[in-house]
Amino acid sequence: MKGASTMSSTSNKTPCPHCETDCKTVKTKQISRVYREVTYACPKCGHIFVASISPVRTLAPSEMPHEDVRIPG
Ligand SMILES: [Zn+2]
Repeated sequence: MKGASTMSSTSNKTPCPHCETDCKTVKTKQISRVYREVTYACPKCGHIFVASISPVRTLAPSEMPHEDVRIPG
């Protein structure tokens, strides 16, 4: 999680939609192979919200593809 990554896009921080403070992950719930819900809590303004995470496109194909997973390229 820490360290000097040269790729800024790898940051796991999620800003609060209200005050833009980095939120804390409260819990995660794996709904399916391609859908996950993450509950975030903002330490500054108290906002607690659920975000969804799902793959939107493939950049490199899997070498071990699962038959139920179809992610457009
Ligand atoms: Zn906030």
